[in-house]
Amino acid sequence: PARYYSSEPSLQETEENGFKGHSMLAPFTAGWQSTDLHPLVIERSEGSYVYDINGKKYIDALAGLWCTALEVEQSTLKIEFNGTPMEMKDLANEILSMFTAREMGKVFFTNSGSEANDSQVKLVWYYNNALGRPNKKKFIARSKSYHGSTLIAASLSGLPALHQKFDLPAPFVLHTDCPHYWRFRLSDETEEEFSTRLANNLENLILKEGPDTIAAFIAEPVMGAGGVILPPKTYFEKIQAVLEKYDILLIADEVITAFGRLGTMFGCDMYNIKPDLVSIAKEGIKAFSGSPIVGEIRGQGLILGTEFVDNKSPNDPFPAEWGVGSIFGAECEKRGMLIRVAGDSIMLSPPLIMTPEEVEEIIIKFGHALKATEERIAELKSK
Ligand code: PMP
Repeated sequence: PARYYSSEPSLQETEENGFKGHSMLAPFTAGWQSTDLHPLVIERSEGSYVYDINGKKYIDALAGLWCTALEVEQSTLKIEFNGTPMEMKDLANEILSMFTAREMGKVFFTNSGSEANDSQVKLVWYYNNALGRPNKKKFIARSKSYHGSTLIAASLSGLPALHQKFDLPAPFVLHTDCPHYWRFRLSDETEEEFSTRLANNLENLILKEGPDTIAAFIAEPVMGAGGVILPPKTYFEKIQAVLEKYDILLIADEVITAFGRLGTMFGCDMYNIKPDLVSIAKEGIKAFSGSPIVGEIRGQGLILGTEFVDNKSPNDPFPAEWGVGSIFGAECEKRGMLIRVAGDSIMLSPPLIMTPEEVEEIIIKFGHALKATEERIAELKSK
């Protein structure tokens, strides 16, 4: 629905049909236009004909958007939500009503998290152009962040593997500190002091580049692919104060934290984040910290990261050639459990539909894999 926008108001926007002040931003429609134009809502199709919600019949001389060469009935025009067909505008309203951290205006649908973050960049540039601020275009992201694999999303990401050999990041992307307290704190720094230092570093970067050139800051509430990194105390409060001071937009990348992953509906609820834009997508254990090879176990709700180090110290990594994370990953696989490995960090993010028995199974397999990894390390050390 609303794939097409028509200057001829075929649709009466009423409370009853739910299109009054509808909440969807249509692709290829300039923001200022979408308030003046009226969506042409195609409800069903029959052969080469489509019908709008008023029953008016059209011959589809464009095959949708060039692509619906064969008749695929209504499924191409509607999307599934909770098992029942729900039109996109209803889904948009539903999403807006769920997101309570801050009042949001519109929903823009994309096909992936990477595309969502690429679209954020376009929307922010569009916004600053509309406001007559053509120089306010740079983005600040964080080291170790992951925002996707397309050119722009990979540029925003702070993982060197996504940049090296790809001529990335794009020049309008800057990176600031990773907020991993356990790894990057100074010797006697408290969590709050660490957050203050990172907020100061962000402010200094903004001042160095010129506040009039910085458009937005993008952050995952909990960093996922970088190794499950939780924000330290007062971090988002301090970062948001800096962004507000220099009129810089905040984008929350909730691709993995939205829909309950952390125990609250959104990561923004958990950390009192009030973003200007949000990327959302996929929906969404501490026991073993006594192990001599575990430095830190960190997590929130059903997302968990574990980092393997020697002497339980962030400064004593195991030799990279031992591949301790991969040893653990292989031990899990041997026992029929899939996890994710990044260097010597491993990550778990089980489905929310898991039964208590399945949680138990993960804990048992985790424990056995950990024991086997400890033994393998002892062996490597003795050589
Ligand atoms: N942002 C975050 C925080 C992610 O973790 C991911 C991948 N899970 C993406 C963006 C990219 O999403 P996709 O793989 O759907 O492009």
